[in-house]
Amino acid sequence: MGLQMAERIHIHDRLKTAIENGELTLRYQPQVDVLTGKMVAVEALVRWHDRELGEVSPVRFIPVAESTGLILPLGDWVLEEACRQLAAWTRNGTHLRMAVNLSVHQFRQANLCERLAKWITSYALAPELIELEITESQAMAEPDQAQQTLESLKAMGISLALDDFGTGHSSLSYLRVLPVSRVKIDRLFMQHIPGRESDATLVRAVISLAHALGLKVVAEGVETAQQLQFLRDHACDTYKGWLYAKALLASEVDELLAVSRQGAANNA
Ligand code: C2E
Ligand code: MG
Ligand code: MG
Repeated sequence: MGLQMAERIHIHDRLKTAIENGELTLRYQPQVDVLTGKMVAVEALVRWHDRELGEVSPVRFIPVAESTGLILPLGDWVLEEACRQLAAWTRNGTHLRMAVNLSVHQFRQANLCERLAKWITSYALAPELIELEITESQAMAEPDQAQQTLESLKAMGISLALDDFGTGHSSLSYLRVLPVSRVKIDRLFMQHIPGRESDATLVRAVISLAHALGLKVVAEGVETAQQLQFLRDHACDTYKGWLYAKALLASEVDELLAVSRQGAANNA
């Protein structure tokens, strides 16, 4: 436990310096339309390469940032950087939705809506191209407050997605009342598709339930053609995963889009 604590303190100190020195970067993982195969969105994922620690996974440093308050400056940087990149894509005619992960502390920040409104104005963004991802546990912790914040964000035109669906304490009634437009099926449930019948049943059920409520569905962690075929057979809307691409540099997203435009032109 002492070692764990020391590691967390070390990560905290180095991360704090990394944020101050602007050493974090973003990668963008494509989200693809299941039917057309076209890239329709990207998810911004934070990356940190430390001189001493090497590449540190967000799975390791986000919880440290959350427990020490560093998540607020980190989350602010991620949001603004995602807005800046979205503005660059908008300027060169690339129409992609930008999904950004929001931590529970950011979600509870009193001035979250004002900060977003400021960036939307200063970067001249279409708010409907911004999607904030929150997890079930965030939305469930204080449902009334969550509902209010989500309603305000929705009123600004920002879209909302429920991330890691199925991994927390899901309550189907919240799915009905929360103003989210998309549900993201966690990759844990996709892992054994199509082999494991219980997971297949669950994924099918989430897709049809979400559709019945007028919500779109994103499947995460799609790594095989068989998983994609399963999603096609069950009318899932979009997917994300290594089958299409890992998290990429913005320039690599541009290259991928150029290649698929060229492919479409050759087929025309
Ligand atoms: P998430 O939001 O559910 O993101 C999906 C994670 O799954 C990403 O890991 C992504 O690289 C990984 N992934 C995508 N496709 C595949 C696949 O086909 N197979 C496998 N095995 N993995 C895949 P990453 O980037 O390490 O992020 C992990 C988690 O860290 C994220 O889960 C999110 O909860 C958190 N995170 C990442 N960036 C941010 C951020 O900017 N802010 C906040 N608050 N959290 C973040
Ligand atoms: Mg996410
Ligand atoms: Mg997820």
